Amino acid sequence: MVLLQSGETPLKSGSAVVQTQAGPRPGIFTVTNMALVLETTGAPPPPGDGWGPPTAGTTNEYRIGLWRVRQAQAVQGPGGAILQINLMKRVLMIQTDDLPAWVAVVGEAQAHAPAPPPEVAERRALKKGGVAPPRRCSYCTQLSPPGSIKCVSCGASF
Ligand SMILES: [Zn+2]
Repeated sequence: MVLLQSGETPLKSGSAVVQTQAGPRPGIFTVTNMALVLETTGAPPPPGDGWGPPTAGTTNEYRIGLWRVRQAQAVQGPGGAILQINLMKRVLMIQTDDLPAWVAVVGEAQAHAPAPPPEVAERRALKKGGVAPPRRCSYCTQLSPPGSIKCVSCGASF
């Protein structure tokens, strides 16, 4: 079972095998309104594939935030059709059934994805030659100057 975070809702879940640089990783793949979630039944996925360490409080749950997802499509792999999810810098290859439904769910979830973390929004703005946006505090909702590490209103850490 996915360890749901505040405001998180599962949209589709099923058995899947994620093809990684270190070999196949079978488990349960879930798309929520916030993230792609893999619960492995064997070895963990290599961190270089974008999954990172297990979600806090779990031993086999790995996440990729929807803000990193660019596109999902069904493609022909050597072993048949496969779900391909393009991230910002990586590509996930996932063997599963019901590919058109997965493509639709990922697309829909990505269209309504939560905003990226403030530091990512800042980096993106700077890359485009723009001005970094102010940071909004998740506690008191007040704005602080770009690059602040603490809320100027309430002192909460960003
Ligand atoms: Zn604050």
